[in-house]
Parts: sequence; structure tokens; C-alpha cells
Amino acid sequence: MNSLAALHSSWLDRLNPAQRRAVTHAGGPLLVVAGAGTGKTQTLTGRVAYLVERGTPPDRILLLTFTRRAASEMLARASELLRESGRDARGVWGGTFHAVAMRLLRTYAGALGLDHQFAVLDPTDAADLLNVLRHRLGLDQTRNRFPQKATCLAIYSRCVNADRPLAEILQDVFPWCAEWAEELRRLFAAYTEEKQRRHLLDFDDLLLYWRELARDPTLGPILEQRFDHILVDEYQDTNGLQVDILRAMRSTRRDLMAVGDEAQCIYAFRGAVAGHMTRFTELFPDATVVVLEENYRSVQPILDSANVLLDERPPGQGFPRALRAVRGPGETPVLLICSDEDAEARAVADQILRHYEEGVPLHRMAVLMRAADHSALLEVELARRNIPFRKYGGLRFLEIAHVKDLVALLRWMVHPRDELAALRVLQLLPGIGPATAAQLWSVIVEADAEFSTLLRVRVPAAARPGLEDLVGVLRSVRTESNPPALVERAIAWYAPWCAQLYENPEGRQRSLENLVHIAAGYESLEDFLADLALDPPSGAGDLAGPPLRDDDWLVLSTIHSAKGGEWDVVWVLHAADGFLPADMACTSTEEIEEERRLLYVAFTRARDYLYVTWPQRCFVHGPLRSDRHILAPLSRFITPRVRAAFRTEVVGRRPEPAPKLPEAPPTPMVDLHERLRARWQTEQR
Ligand code: ATP
Ligand code: MG
Repeated sequence: MNSLAALHSSWLDRLNPAQRRAVTHAGGPLLVVAGAGTGKTQTLTGRVAYLVERGTPPDRILLLTFTRRAASEMLARASELLRESGRDARGVWGGTFHAVAMRLLRTYAGALGLDHQFAVLDPTDAADLLNVLRHRLGLDQTRNRFPQKATCLAIYSRCVNADRPLAEILQDVFPWCAEWAEELRRLFAAYTEEKQRRHLLDFDDLLLYWRELARDPTLGPILEQRFDHILVDEYQDTNGLQVDILRAMRSTRRDLMAVGDEAQCIYAFRGAVAGHMTRFTELFPDATVVVLEENYRSVQPILDSANVLLDERPPGQGFPRALRAVRGPGETPVLLICSDEDAEARAVADQILRHYEEGVPLHRMAVLMRAADHSALLEVELARRNIPFRKYGGLRFLEIAHVKDLVALLRWMVHPRDELAALRVLQLLPGIGPATAAQLWSVIVEADAEFSTLLRVRVPAAARPGLEDLVGVLRSVRTESNPPALVERAIAWYAPWCAQLYENPEGRQRSLENLVHIAAGYESLEDFLADLALDPPSGAGDLAGPPLRDDDWLVLSTIHSAKGGEWDVVWVLHAADGFLPADMACTSTEEIEEERRLLYVAFTRARDYLYVTWPQRCFVHGPLRSDRHILAPLSRFITPRVRAAFRTEVVGRRPEPAPKLPEAPPTPMVDLHERLRARWQTEQR
């Protein structure tokens, strides 16, 4: 047994007693519940280091995080802690649930009847496949409008992740689609069959298959024995399927550690349920619970604003938990009332420069927003003032058209039967539309993926040279296996088409070339593609390389992507009703409460300064060219009590002064006090 007295690692002394208790926990399920910035992630990292230090082989530890970046940062930090003991955390299985599922399924594919070459379908491809099937089943020709492909995918995914019947999900979450229940069921059945036929796994399948694997009477126990310890960060955002997996992976072995904060549950749309935290102790009744109370991140006035924000929740929406700052007093947060979005953008840019002049590097500042397009004007203002920035969240990297093109080509190289990829690539060639592409595809299918048969089909002259080169690229996988070399070949073929199809081809080309560097870390093109689909770079910015002028840049991020992060100075844009909470998220109390938690996550990212901006006039993009300016009320979450935790500043055009009232005529005196007293005297009698 590890008694505290026997410990000598100096890093353990830097933890507080509750953190140390969690890090040195003797065994069995352990839950750390604590508010933002109390060191949950740090404690989890410490636990990994502690386990390795005490002799657990790194590859018998599984660390589940919300992003790949989080896992690699935690493991780098654990290795730092381990330096004095001469060990390191390399070899720990770290990553997202999906990435770990992929690794495990590749290992056990044979036993599961899965093709070893299975490909991972990212959500955009999954939606495209649903679209193809919608057409095939004639559902797009129905009288009333059948749900769009993205909605179909959202419904499907919600059913699978929450593990609830379609009818229930339709009724609760997508009531406007309820009339399509039968058609959707047919569509999802066809989708499942099609994926199996083509050896494709979408994101949800990765979890579903993992769960089945873990529950299997023969394979399950083998898998369970594979890991001595399982550790999970941001447990509040796990969904039902992920909880099932953890249960199955810990049915006889006991070591599971989870850390989380119910008040930060912001993924209900993926099936996470605010309530898992409390249910952990029901699932693992012998769990030890450690509560962390001190916040090490923020100064007290920032925590006061976050505390009162949560305190304004309606009754029954979570436990009160006041955050206390170890760092003590500091600056009061500021509510910036801006006449419009222009004024907001200018004011934020001014403040960024002011903090920069005062010595805060740009990367220690972040501008957070509910939706990626809320920073449109600010981005123009930043560019005008030469302030470099990187944007996280929003348009996913794989949704960017030129990236999709190149990835489609790479996928086709690896999976000759990938119809979706093939059709996309063929249509890049001049003069080749959907009909010719489909004809070319059927020729390849008949010839059992012998690409040279493509050259027998008559195609427009302009497409001919490109098609010939394409055949060469597709066949290159037979002689070349080095991932970066293959990516380079694909880029060389694609570059001229990219230049013809899109603006700013140089910028696009640069971002693609960065893929060559990333590919260098992989042994096979297949693994590289699967990982790219699962955990893509956060946005175009991630691949743009360091900004040209400077290696210091400001962070722009959606609040969702800012989870777990911290910055010295934080701005929260567009704190106006309709934006935060977002319009579309105001149909139920649960959704509104999730938006409030989102704002809580945003406030608690700030260490020293917090600015919340409210543009009083906003521009909204409506359907059918109904774009217009609207007067935006202050976010309903900034109640008078919350507002009292802020200092207010007004910027931009001053509001019109109120018209002067005409001089009042002299009035007789009224003894109001007496009248009020009299009311109660009469009542008493
Ligand atoms: P979130 O809920 O936002 O994910 P968290 O609870 O995971 O937050 P961490 O990110 O682990 O919190 O820690 C917040 C900050 O507090 C970090 O800068 C971390 O280094 C610091 N910190 C945590 N514990 C201690 C400690 N015992 N002494 C000094 N600093 C600490
Ligand atoms: Mg954390």
C-alpha cells in the first residue's frame, strides 16, 4: 500500500490535500467532482504520472479525453512530472473515445467479422451517404418536404447515442419531423445495410461496435483485462453509449477514475445528459468521491460573476457550488454595452491592443463566441490592425471544400471501392458532371477496380490528360506505402484543379502541404485518414502554419471548443438574446439551461480579466434575403444580479438622449407616507 508518508515525489507536495488524495487513491472507482479551474485535469494528469511512477506499465493505462490535443498535452505534462523518477508516460493509450475505439476495432476486426480495411466515415460523408439513399428510396420526392440530410444524420445519431427509440427522439427533440417516422426508419435501415456492405463505420458505429465488443462474452473479458486503469476527463459530457462502454470495460476490474463538473455539461445535443455525474455513484456504489473546492485559475471577482450566474438557475437545475479563488481579489469583470456590432469589434480590438501593450502576449488572450460567425466583423477589424489570430471551432476542417477534395482522393487511393470519394474526385475534372462520373464508376466496378479501364471511356478532351494522370496516382499505392509521399503525389495531381476551382489557391495549397507533415507521423495512409476523420485539426487556422508576421497569435474560439482551456484575458462576444442563448436553442428549459452552462464555461475560462460584450443592434441573416438589423436585448442570463457583478462601460454612438419632459405645473403636496401607513392601519381592523 502506498502510504502518504512513503511518498517522496516533490510534485505531489504541490497539490492540495484533496487533489493528493485523488492522485494517490489506493484503488477502486473514484469520482472527482469539482467546479471549473479547481485542478481536475491537473489531478488526472497527476494520477497518470503517479501510476506510472509506481510501476503500472504505461500501455496498461487508458486516458480518455475530449480532444486529441488535450490527451497529448496531459501526457506531455505527466512525462514532465515523471522526469525525476526517470520514467515517462509515452505508451499510455490517450485520446478521444472515438480514436481509441478505432484502435481497438482495428485490433479485433477479424473476430468481429469486420474487414480490416474498414474506413471511417466522417459526419459530412455520412450525411452525403444518407442523401444518396434518400434519393434511392424516393424520399426526396415526397409531398411535404422530407428532412434535409444533416437533420436525418442528427436524428439517427441522437437515437444511437442516447440509445432511445426513434419515435421518442422524434417526439422530444425533432417534433417537426415526427410525421416521417416510418420513412426515417426505412432510411436508417438502408443506411446501416449500405455501411456494412461497403465496410464503412461512421462515428457512432465506432462506439456501438466498441460497446458490443466489450459486452461480448468471449472478447469482452479479454478487452477488460487489457487495461489496469481507465481515466476519463470531462466526464459530464460523456453520453449513454460511452457510459455503457465504461461499465462493460470495468465489470470485474475496478480501477476507473472520472473527473467532471455537472455545471459544465454542454453537449446534450450529442446525447450527454446532465446527471451522469450523480449517476456514477449509482453505477459504482463503492466509488470514492473527492470534492475539490479551491479554484486556482481566476481572481475572485470573475468567480463571483460565474457563481451568481449559476445561482440564478431555476430551482432543481443543479447544486449550488460557489467557486473560491486561491488567487484572491482582482479586477471586476466588465459588461461592455456597444451601440452596434461595429462598435463591439472596435472596442474589443482596442482592448486587445491595450492588454498587449501592457505585456500580455496575444496567445494568452481569447475571444469566445456561441457561434463561429459572431466574430465576422471582429476578424475584419483584427486584419485591419494586423493582429494575427487563429480560429478554433466553427467550420470543421474536413468541411472545407478543397480539403474534402484532397481527402476524397486519398480515400479512393486506399479504398478502391469508395464510391462517394470516387464520384467527388472524378467531377473535379473539366467537363465531367454527375452522369459521366457515374458512368466511369460503373466501368471501374465491372472491371473489379482495375483503374486503367477508366481510359477506355470517352470523356471530354479537356478531361483526358487529368484522367490519365489520375490513374497513375490511384495506382501509386501499389508501389509506394510511405504516407507523406502519397499525400504529396495526390497534392501534385490536385493543385491545378484547385487553382481553377477556388479563390486564393496559394493559401489553400499551403494548408494542404501541412498535411504532408502531419502524415509523416503515420505508418500507413489508412491510419492517417482514419485519424484525420476522427480528430481533425480544429479549423483552417490549425493548418495554416504560424502566422506570417509573428509567432504569437490571438485565439478566437467557439465556447464549445474552448472547453478545458484558460486565458489571462477573455472576451465573450454577443451576449444578446437570440445569440446567447441562440435562437434555435430556446425551445425547452433543458436547452436554455444548457446555454446558461455554456456561458458559465465561457466566464470560467478567464484568469485575470473578463469582458462580456452586448451589441445593442445586430445584423441577422434571415431566409429569403430577409437580412436586417435588429435591436438585440441583453442576454436573459445577465439578470440584474449577474449584472451587479460587473462594471458597465458604454462604447460607440451614445444612445439618443431622452426627450426633455415639459416643465411640470406646480402640484399640491400629497403625504404619500401617511397614505401608505393608513393602508395597513385600516387593514388591521
Ligand atoms: P476545467 O473545469 O475548466 O476543466 P479543471 O478543474 O480541469 O478546470 P485545471 O485546468 O486542471 O482545472 O487547473 C486550472 C488551473 O489551476 C491550471 O492553471 C492549473 O495549473 C492550476 N492548478 C491546479 N491545481 C493547482 C495547485 N494545487 N496549485 C497551483 N495551481 C494549480
Ligand atoms: Mg479540465
